[in-house]
This record gives sequence, C-alpha cells and structure tokens, in this order.
Amino acid sequence: MRVAVLSDIHSNIVALDAVLSDAGDVDAIWHLGDVVGYGPQPDAVVARLDERDATGVRGNHDAAAIGGPEIDWFNPEARAAAEWTRDSIADSTRAWLSALPERRVVDDVLLVHGSPRDPLREYVTDRAAAEDNMAVQETQHALHGHTHVPAAWTATPDRVALIQPGASDAIDLGTYLMLINPGSVGQPRDGDARASYLVLDREIRRVTWHRVAYDIDRVQADMRAAGLPERLAARLSFGL
Ligand code: ZN
Repeated sequence: MRVAVLSDIHSNIVALDAVLSDAGDVDAIWHLGDVVGYGPQPDAVVARLDERDATGVRGNHDAAAIGGPEIDWFNPEARAAAEWTRDSIADSTRAWLSALPERRVVDDVLLVHGSPRDPLREYVTDRAAAEDNMAVQETQHALHGHTHVPAAWTATPDRVALIQPGASDAIDLGTYLMLINPGSVGQPRDGDARASYLVLDREIRRVTWHRVAYDIDRVQADMRAAGLPERLAARLSFGL
C-alpha cells in the first residue's frame, strides 16, 4: 500500500494538482492540515481532497478559517489571508474543514499538524521539542507538518537524530520511534520553491520525499487578483 502524504497545501490548487499528478496511482492520500490559508483557491483544494477521499487532520489555518480563536496568533499578513479565506469559502468547504479532527491514527500511524502533544500550535524545530513529543507519541511512527520544512526525527536508544531530506531522499522505517514531516505542498519554506510531499510505502516500510515544480506565476497572479497580501505571493518564488 502506497500512501501520498501531503501537508500545508494552503489553498494552492496548482501545486496540489502537480503533486497528485506526480504521485500517480497511490492507494491513499493522507493530509496533515493547513489545507487552506495564504493561497487563493480554498474551495478547489477542499473539493479535490474530498474527491480523492483524502484522510487528514485540522491545522491552525483551517481552524482560523472556520472561526476559531487561532486567527489571533497570526501576523498581519496571515491574518488578512485568514479573514479573506473565512469570508470567501463555500458552506461545503466550511463543513468539510469543521469535520477534521485535531489528531487521527490511521493504520497505526499518528497524523497531526503541529506536534503530537500540541497539534494546533507547536512547531517541532529543535531536538528538545522532538524529544519531548516522542516521549508522549502513542504510535511508533507519526507524521506532522506546520514548519513547511521536510524532516525526520528518529529516536534511537542513544539519541534523537534529525534527517533533513532533499528531493528523492528516502529512509527506511526501522524499529525506532520516528516523527516525519513531508514539507509543504503549497508554501515551502526550505529555500526550494517546488512543492514538497512524501510517499509512504507500507509494504517495504520506506518513506521517499519528492519535489515537484508547478506554475508559481499562475498562483501569484490569482493571489494578486484576489487582493491577498503581496508578500505572501512573492515568497512563493523563493520557497521561503
Ligand atoms: Zn502551514
């Protein structure tokens, strides 16, 4: 069974479609939240995930879009985009987002947006945060997003180690605890502007990261036409 794992799509339908086409014939699609926010096409992204029977969890931007207090944590640009999203999504999109849980275990794998202990808020960016989270992680393998940077933390008996995978890098799912991040489909922040995702192969117990070029100009034009903040459009060119 091959699973495409997508996170932080952020209303970027052009990037999502490029990723789905690159992933091809997978058996399942799992998403790790922040389906909406920042980008110009929230309804189209939700419709596509729904049509593909994607299973996933809620991110802080999804919570903000359906009226949650999470909007108060945002910087002015993220807040402006969240307000735009809240005001422009269809009722069916709002209902779909509202039905997402904050955490979900699928086939013994934990899915969360931020971190296992704090799914809507915490960024796992350093070893201390990874160690604390892996100490309470209820499954051997967990998938998370939120940082928009591809990564894998592995807890061996001696230490917690970080792998920062590049395009096409793969790791084997060993017998140790792992906390794995596919990077962001719709707004990468690791200096590579291409959409990022991973494929989890359950049979051979292997995870492979992928990067996919997409039509960034088109998304930026849609963002400007929608009146979304210029800096959010500009950053897509740099993957930062
Ligand atoms: Zn995000």
